Amino acid sequence: MTSPSRKIKRKKKAAAQKELKKKISLFGRLGDECDACQKPFDKKCKEHAMTWNVVVRSKENIVRLYCPDCWDKARNLIKELENDSRVQAKTGR
Ligand SMILES: [Zn+2]
Repeated sequence: MTSPSRKIKRKKKAAAQKELKKKISLFGRLGDECDACQKPFDKKCKEHAMTWNVVVRSKENIVRLYCPDCWDKARNLIKELENDSRVQAKTGR
């Protein structure tokens, strides 16, 4: 006799494995160059693996890869935009 709780456990495991497979396949979609400047990304390079940034949007099945330069630029841009809107909010009446 198999207990029903055992069956549920097995189902959960299968779902987790499915999720893992999805994640792996997402990483398989990882490009080999920066999404912004097309600088080549060396998957075997430890420094690249440490410094490059991966943005995963699992909902949309999108994986983006950014080199440190573009990542910094994007972050500064966001900061500037934030500052701009703050300035506008202050001066705008
Ligand atoms: Zn770049």
